[in-house]
Amino acid sequence: TLSPPPVGADPAITLVDVVKDFGGVRGGAAVRGVNLTIAEGEFFSLLGPSGCGKTTTLRMIAGFEEPSGGQILLHGRNMVGVPANKRDINMVFQSYALFPHLSVADNVAFGLRRRRVPKDEIHDRVDRILRTVELAEKADHRPRQLSGGQQQRVALARALVNRPRALLLDEPLGALDLKLRQSMQLELKRIQREVGITFIYVTHDQAEALTMSDRIAVMNGGLIEQVACPQEVYERPATAFVAGFIGTSNLISGRLTTAGPEGGVIDLGDGQRITVPQSAAGSDVQLTVRPEKITLTTGPAGDASRLRGTVSEVVYLGTSTSYTVATSTGAEMTVFQPNDGTASVVPARGDTVWLSWATAHSYPLGTTP
Ligand code: ATP
Repeated sequence: TLSPPPVGADPAITLVDVVKDFGGVRGGAAVRGVNLTIAEGEFFSLLGPSGCGKTTTLRMIAGFEEPSGGQILLHGRNMVGVPANKRDINMVFQSYALFPHLSVADNVAFGLRRRRVPKDEIHDRVDRILRTVELAEKADHRPRQLSGGQQQRVALARALVNRPRALLLDEPLGALDLKLRQSMQLELKRIQREVGITFIYVTHDQAEALTMSDRIAVMNGGLIEQVACPQEVYERPATAFVAGFIGTSNLISGRLTTAGPEGGVIDLGDGQRITVPQSAAGSDVQLTVRPEKITLTTGPAGDASRLRGTVSEVVYLGTSTSYTVATSTGAEMTVFQPNDGTASVVPARGDTVWLSWATAHSYPLGTTP
């Protein structure tokens, strides 16, 4: 499913049927026909597992790779054949490649000096961008005197000082530890909002993509499975792949035995059933239920969907506890219960429990709402 860019925004970057075939013996192309429209000023992420083609897609936008087919438009102009340095785009990598013998300010000024920008202007622009990335007081330091996160911010300042129309970032926070990564994610988002430049961000980390992005393209096997805002890819995953890749999800397949005005029912006998918000009787459905939408009780609850099972694993996670429940249908379900005292039961391994959830939380896959 393609979700349209924000209303009224100009398309900054458009990909039309973009293919990249490296001619490998295994056949399949790295990118197999990608269509995307990224709006001016958008924070847009390409998210997917290793090898899904996100870096290749980014490198084609940058001009480091030529597509085997399709078109890439920057502000309406076809870029195929235009060299990387003529594209008004900058790229930031995980390895920041700063010059160790130059100060922070000189590292940032480097590109402007090479382009013979007047001295006063260089001074002003470097000063302003170092303030934006909150490194003004480190202007005279050498890179090795800075932390990893600070060095990454210098690399970012060095790219932004050129005022590109778009900035491409390939897992720029991959080398940082978790705490620093999380603070840099918020920092990057703030900086992007402040400079108003289109960011295209490649990551395999779903939490990172959810935190920062205006919209996310979820990629798998060289194709885009869904383009949507963070809330939508989480709450309305288009495919089983998206449901499994973003957060934790329970996948259920079954045949609807009845269909009433409120939707369909998968009748599992023994008082167990799963209710689905739509579909006709007799059809096969695949649906997803998020672990935090399920309630555990000792007996069958009033909620529309209910299943019996045995707790096989209990993992304490701080604010919540994760339960793995082997249900009588054979499927294993994951359930998160909050540890705030609102849970109606706190079962142990081996206990029999009932799982229940409202019809609206049985989200059918492969359907467009
Ligand atoms: P990662 O997160 O591991 O970088 P990715 O999603 O960015 O993964 P790509 O780097 O775009 O994936 O690679 C997609 C596919 O294309 C992979 O199967 C990879 O082996 C292949 N590939 C990438 N670059 C080349 C190349 N220069 N020559 C041949 N095959 C390549």
